[in-house]
Amino acid sequence: MAKGEKLNPFEIAQRQLDEAAEKLGLDEATREFLRWPMREFKVTLPVRMDDGTVKVFHGYRVQYNNARGPTKGGLRWHPDETIDTVRALAAWMTWKTAVVDIPLGGGKGGITCNPKELSEREKERLARAYIRAVGRVLGVTKDVPAPDVYTNPQIMAWMMDEYETLMGENHPGVITGKPIPLGGSQGRNDATARGGIYVVREACKVKNMDPAKATYAIQGFGNAGQFAATLHKEILGGGKLVAVSDSKGGVYNPDGIDPEAIVKYKLETGQVSGFPGTKPISNEELLELDVDILYPAALENVITEENAPRIKAKIICELANGPTTPEADHILFKNGNFVLPDFLANAGGVTVSYFEQVQNTYNFYWDLEEVHRMLDRKMTKAFYDVYEMHKKHNVHMRLAAYMVAVSRVAEACKLRGWV
Ligand code: NAD
Repeated sequence: MAKGEKLNPFEIAQRQLDEAAEKLGLDEATREFLRWPMREFKVTLPVRMDDGTVKVFHGYRVQYNNARGPTKGGLRWHPDETIDTVRALAAWMTWKTAVVDIPLGGGKGGITCNPKELSEREKERLARAYIRAVGRVLGVTKDVPAPDVYTNPQIMAWMMDEYETLMGENHPGVITGKPIPLGGSQGRNDATARGGIYVVREACKVKNMDPAKATYAIQGFGNAGQFAATLHKEILGGGKLVAVSDSKGGVYNPDGIDPEAIVKYKLETGQVSGFPGTKPISNEELLELDVDILYPAALENVITEENAPRIKAKIICELANGPTTPEADHILFKNGNFVLPDFLANAGGVTVSYFEQVQNTYNFYWDLEEVHRMLDRKMTKAFYDVYEMHKKHNVHMRLAAYMVAVSRVAEACKLRGWV
């Protein structure tokens, strides 16, 4: 796919599944079943605005597959939200929960809206209206939402409250990513980057690289990118950060950039450009730098068949969802770049969401060290499950991750007698 070309994300998700299904030799019925969501809900939400008028919003909830457990996945509030983005993300959640082997399925939800144009009260009414419409299909044993693009712990708190009001009972586990005083988990804020760093640590072992001596660059400097910068140093015992970028541009210093200092600078100024001692670098140049480890942590489709031949990083840890196109995957594999695919590398977030649900159900809460220990265990095991599949079948790591995940979901469907 050429850079910038718009592909339907659900078609990409289906193509990726088809490749794994072919390699696994799945029968026709299983393939067809896994290509589609099991259930989809479309809701129309009239919401009273602050000026007294009523505005009508459109919302979705897709429960892609629940063979391995209740469906789980975030809620996006975005002006471009469509049923196909929600379907694709719900499919990826199904493979993500399966690859880290947590007893959940995959789901996703969304409301087409521009939250930047809504007041806090309007957001609250929209959140509550959504739960009144889809609440009966949600639940700890059915389907558990979480925050995603433009939704946050406060929105989760309103949604949990509305759900509990409807049920007349306490149900904190119906939603994750809650504020800590309402049953949120320790360690959720940096979980995505932390999980990614754990798999980089294991990847360095199999590639005989010393991460403490490795150079690294990060594209995108929000939640995932900032924590990756500091946790790389903290968990891997050093490393040299040489470049960082955000939507306003990038900065480069081959002698190294202090991770804590640049995070502080970004939080104070809203950008990385102008950080003292660095030279400007474009987002495109950053991706092609001669570094040991590259962290795409911004957007989808940034590594394409056009620039993939020029990518030099030995390890690419995809914290972003979908940064590499299917064509680029094959080029990177041929050239020996080692890709840690998104639904493995960024699964730390959903894993700690699952821990949150477990703690809510027990009504007993873990300390931060316990969360980190359990996350490390899950991510390390997932890495080796995928790595062994990659070695055994000589396929790229994304296809290997799909093969691990799809075979687990297919097995659960078979055991239930569905296919
Ligand atoms: P965020 O909004 O906090 O940060 C995104 C960053 O990307 C910002 O710094 C922004 O300036 C930068 N950016 C935007 N356009 C860019 C461009 N053209 N070039 C370079 N940088 C650009 O988002 P986040 O939560 O850090 O998520 C980043 C990626 O990680 C997304 O793909 C998201 O789906 C994925 N992800 C995040 C989580 C999580 O828990 N935060 C979990 C799983 C996956």
